[in-house]
Amino acid sequence: MTNHLYMNGNWHEGEGNERPLINPATEETIYTIKEASREQATSAVDAARKAFDQSDWTTNPVKRVNALRKLADLLERDEKSFADAETENTGKPILEATLDIGDSVACLRYYAELIEKKEPETIQMPDGTTSKIIDEPIGVCALIVPWNFPLLLGMWKIAPALAAGNTVVFKPSELTPVTAIKLAHLIDQCDFPPGVFNLVPGAGDPVGETLVTHPEVDKVSFTGGSETGKHINQQCARDLKRVSLELGGKSPLVILKDADLDAAVEWTIFGGFFNQGEVCVASSRILVHEDLYEAFIDKLLSDTTRITIGDPTREETEMGPLISRDHLKKVESYIELGSQEGATVSAGSSRPDNGFYLSPVIFTNVHQSMRIVQEEIFGPVITVQPFRDQEEAIALANGTKYGLAAGVLSNDVSEAEKVASRLKAGTIWINSYHTPYVEAPWGGYKQSGIGRELGPHGLAGFTEVKHVNTSVQLAKADWYTH
Ligand code: NAD
Repeated sequence: MTNHLYMNGNWHEGEGNERPLINPATEETIYTIKEASREQATSAVDAARKAFDQSDWTTNPVKRVNALRKLADLLERDEKSFADAETENTGKPILEATLDIGDSVACLRYYAELIEKKEPETIQMPDGTTSKIIDEPIGVCALIVPWNFPLLLGMWKIAPALAAGNTVVFKPSELTPVTAIKLAHLIDQCDFPPGVFNLVPGAGDPVGETLVTHPEVDKVSFTGGSETGKHINQQCARDLKRVSLELGGKSPLVILKDADLDAAVEWTIFGGFFNQGEVCVASSRILVHEDLYEAFIDKLLSDTTRITIGDPTREETEMGPLISRDHLKKVESYIELGSQEGATVSAGSSRPDNGFYLSPVIFTNVHQSMRIVQEEIFGPVITVQPFRDQEEAIALANGTKYGLAAGVLSNDVSEAEKVASRLKAGTIWINSYHTPYVEAPWGGYKQSGIGRELGPHGLAGFTEVKHVNTSVQLAKADWYTH
């Protein structure tokens, strides 16, 4: 296939950059993508505008529900080929890629059902009038996502945006457009009016910039790095465009004194190294009660060597390669930095020579002010710090500019809940980690973002609220005296 752009219900050859896509496990080129030009990104927005203004998509919720359900069925049917494609493009282990596709199907079905059940809220006012609170679609939405969960993070935006009646222009990461292109092929087989869904693969500049600054885009929903998010926020502010930002994190896992040691080590390894640590909510900062610290470190170092790193197409693989050579270099530079900052580094588990693989890295003897504690590394690198009491644990946990997620492990749930109530993070897991629930909100405090995805909050991010107040009789205003 050479046509990688889907606009106004048709496939087009990109007139922008040509980009080879590299399989990070083999370093082989798998496709060459012809990306959108600036003009084509503009045309995609124009197609979405026309569909929003002229099709029955915005006004016909039954049509939307049916189209989203059909898409979910087709995606479920093709789960294996989507998972294979995701693994080949990202290097993520096949079992995780399969979960991503299943979660994407569930997300489509969840928002179809939410719209099906949705009724405007009616309020009888004390003065006898009636108010209706109506959620309306915002308009044309530009959806921009990163490379770590290419289809799933896209679906967290596509499903609620379309369910609410918006039209969309979707830009996947330039590194991982494959499942987005496959999805557009399925959308082409469902009853979406032309221009409701448009796909423009390409880089942040020119494609992402064109979408964000286009005057006909009403809402930008972005997932990616905090610096990119701040830049996009500034651009949107010029026209007061609606904007949601799902950004980076440096999430703490707090292990209280009474936590079971074996379970704590397992959640630490899963929280820090799942998806090669390339997860926005990865528990990259481990805070352990000082009484457990020595025994915890011994077990953590020894168990980490048992992680199976290798060919991501094999079901037994737990960690695949990082996304790209450039990203591997960035993560390695942080490992060097940690040593220069005076931390003790331990690496576990052997890895293949070919491909962008990295063994998990554990830093001990770290201080809160070190850059490896403060900055998002976005790879299989964790820091471990002991704490004396809960006050210190909470101060350390909240002591970065991020606030995306956190975990608390304890046999005493009420103690864990007390700690959770004082953590500044959008998602907190007590005695587990990582699971996103489609029914519940996801997003960040502080510099981890603005707004929430998933659940009813995720739908609200794609609606404008209209209040219509009605007096049944047209009586006189009765304001000035006659
Ligand atoms: P990135 O910010 O470099 O890129 C993300 C997306 O934005 C890509 O599609 C990119 O092409 C596009 N982009 C880049 N510059 C742009 C611009 N000026 N205008 C418009 N679009 C632009 O991030 P990345 O390296 O792809 O992803 C890693 C980051 O994503 C990490 O910081 C991670 O924490 C974050 N992330 C957050 C969540 C969340 O839910 N909060 C989920 C996954 C990843």
